[in-house]
Amino acid sequence: MLFNLNSLYVIIGQAVVYSLLFLLIIAVFGSFLIAYSFKTERFILPNFMLFCISLLENLVKALFRLVRMDDSIVDEVGISLKNKIGLRKYKETPFNKRMIFLPQCLRSANCPSKLSPEGMQCINCGRCEIGNAKKHAEEIGYRVFIVPGSSFIIRLVREHRPQAILGVGCMGEVKAGLEMCEKLNLYGVGLVLDKDGCVSTVLDWEKFYDFIVT
Ligand code: SF4
Repeated sequence: MLFNLNSLYVIIGQAVVYSLLFLLIIAVFGSFLIAYSFKTERFILPNFMLFCISLLENLVKALFRLVRMDDSIVDEVGISLKNKIGLRKYKETPFNKRMIFLPQCLRSANCPSKLSPEGMQCINCGRCEIGNAKKHAEEIGYRVFIVPGSSFIIRLVREHRPQAILGVGCMGEVKAGLEMCEKLNLYGVGLVLDKDGCVSTVLDWEKFYDFIVT
């Protein structure tokens, strides 16, 4: 009986070691592909990379740090991959079923807009690009919201029930937003700010305008 138990422990131990080794090999291979994709903007085995980013994120990021590479590359490639996958469905969605969420930090520091249950009420005062962008997107058919936080987004999505969402924000917000879209079965795409922070953040507006007409 003792012998059997010892054998069982050995088998379990070996299974655990081999499983960890297997995951490590997958993560190393995935990290290599992610770094390659980031450098070349060519996405090889996108589903495999997404698997690594979604399920082995911490391990992959640790490997990046181990070789002294910036682990935010993992998030950047993850967002690009999700955008690529989501974009086809996003494009097929009628404009009036799409919503845009802009972060309030993108406003001018002297913005006169007031906060309402639907987010900041832009009066297109001309002090920042949001006024023009909102007007242009609404003319196409979008609903546009300037929001102070993710709780607004969840509530507005529940209220207005869009099919697709374009979210603008810092890397962490876009990443969380895309994950939220997956959970809610929405087609989500995200644009990351060129400069983030608490006020006067910067967005590549040309990219934004290209994006909204797709
Ligand atoms: S354009 Fe709109 S968001 Fe920008 S500063 Fe004026 S009121 Fe605020």
